[in-house]
Amino acid sequence: MIIQPKVRGFICTTAHPVGCARQVQEQIDFVKSKPRISQGAKKVLVIGASTGYGLASRVVEAFGSGAATMGVFWERPAEDKRTATAGWYNSVAFDQAARKEGLYSQSFNGDAFSDEMKIAVAKKIKKDLVDVDLVIYSLASPRRQHPRTGQIYKSVLRPKDYPYTNKSIDFEAGKVTEVTLPAATAQEIEHTVAVMGGEDWEMWMDALMEHGALAHKAYTAAYSYIGPEVTTAVYRNGTIGAAKDHLEKTAKKLNEKLQQKGGGALVSVNKALVTQSSSAIPFIPLYFVLLKKVMKSKGIEENCIQQIYRLFAERLYANKPIPLDEEGRVRVDDLEMRPDVQREVQALWEKVNTDNVKQLADVQGYEEDFLHLFGFGFPDVDYHADVEIDLPLP
Ligand code: NAD
Repeated sequence: MIIQPKVRGFICTTAHPVGCARQVQEQIDFVKSKPRISQGAKKVLVIGASTGYGLASRVVEAFGSGAATMGVFWERPAEDKRTATAGWYNSVAFDQAARKEGLYSQSFNGDAFSDEMKIAVAKKIKKDLVDVDLVIYSLASPRRQHPRTGQIYKSVLRPKDYPYTNKSIDFEAGKVTEVTLPAATAQEIEHTVAVMGGEDWEMWMDALMEHGALAHKAYTAAYSYIGPEVTTAVYRNGTIGAAKDHLEKTAKKLNEKLQQKGGGALVSVNKALVTQSSSAIPFIPLYFVLLKKVMKSKGIEENCIQQIYRLFAERLYANKPIPLDEEGRVRVDDLEMRPDVQREVQALWEKVNTDNVKQLADVQGYEEDFLHLFGFGFPDVDYHADVEIDLPLP
C-alpha cells in the first residue's frame, strides 16, 4: 500500500511502517553514538513503551546499557486497508533491532490498567528474567477502566478553579486564536487523577512485588511536567497537574516501600516535547513552537531520546548520588526552565499573532516533529513505494 499522512486536528490517522522504523533506528544510532551507560539497569520493564518518553527509555536502556527489556503498550495492528498505529510499527522495529543485537525483547500489547496485564507481565518476568531491576512508568492515556470497580474514568485537560483564556495555535488554519477553557468540575478533576495519577503505578509495583518479580534494589521512575507561567493554569494548576501531584505523592509512598529493599522510586520532570499525548493539550502547542525557536537559537534544543539519554547517563546512573530538587524530583527540564529561555519565550508569547507566528515561532520544526511521530517527512524514505502494512510483533 502507498501511505500518505492523514492529519485530523492533533492526530494523524495513518502511520508509515518504514518511516517509523527509520525514526526508531535514529534513536538507536543516537544512543550508540554516546558513551555507554555501564551502571544502567540490566533488566527493565517499560510501561507505555511504544512512543514518546517510554520508547526512548526502552531504547536507551537496551542500546545504552545492553538491558533485556519488556515493553507494555496499547496499540492497534493493521486491519484491511487501515495502517497500524505508529506505536505498533515502532515496537515491531524496536523488537527486531534489539533481537538482531542479541538483546532480550518482549512486548505486550493490551490494557496496562487491567489486572490481567499486570499478572501476565509479572509471570513472564519470573519465567524469562526472574526479576527486573528497573520499572519505567510512562503511560499517557485519555481513559482508564478501573480493574477492581469496572468504572471508566476519562481525563480532561482543563483549569481547576476558574475559566482560563489565552492564546492558542490552530495549525490547520495557521492561526493564533484566543481560546477559553471552562473550569473543571470536581468530578472531572477526580477522573483525571484516576487516569493519570499514581494509583495504577502503585498497582503495578504491588503486583510485581507480590509475584516476586522485582529485584533486590529495584528502582522505579515515572515522568512528570511542570512548565512555565503561561501554561500553569491549564497544566500544573489544571486537572492534569492534580494528577501529576498525585503521581509525585505516589513516588514518595513507593520510595518508602522500595527503600526497605535497597531500591527506590522517583519522578523525573522532563521537558515539554511533541508527542501524541502532549499535542492534545490546549495552549501547549503554541508554547512548544516558541520554546523550540528559542532553544534552537541557543543550541540547547533536545528531543525525547536526548532527554532520556541525559536522564539515565547524567542523573540516574552517573555513579554519584542522584541530584534531586526540593520536592525530591529529578529534573531534566533544566534547560527548558532556564531563566533566559523562559524570559525570551514569555516576550515572544506576548507578541505572537497570526501574522507573525511563522517568524517568531518554529512552526515548521513542530510540523516536522509531528509528522515524524507517525513515520512521515523523512527525506530518505520513499513515500511513493508500495509497502506492507501488516507487520506482526515478533
Ligand atoms: P505518548 O502518548 O507518546 O505515550 C503513551 C504510551 O502509553 C504509549 O506507549 C501508549 O501505547 C501507552 N498507553 C496508553 N494507554 C495505555 C493503556 N491503557 N495500556 C497500555 N499502554 C497504554 O506519551 P508521552 O508524551 O511520552 O508521555 C509519557 C509520560 O511522560 C506521561 O506521564 C507524560 O505526562 C510525561 N511527560 C510528557 C511530556 C511531554 O511534553 N510529552 C513532558 C513531561 C512529562
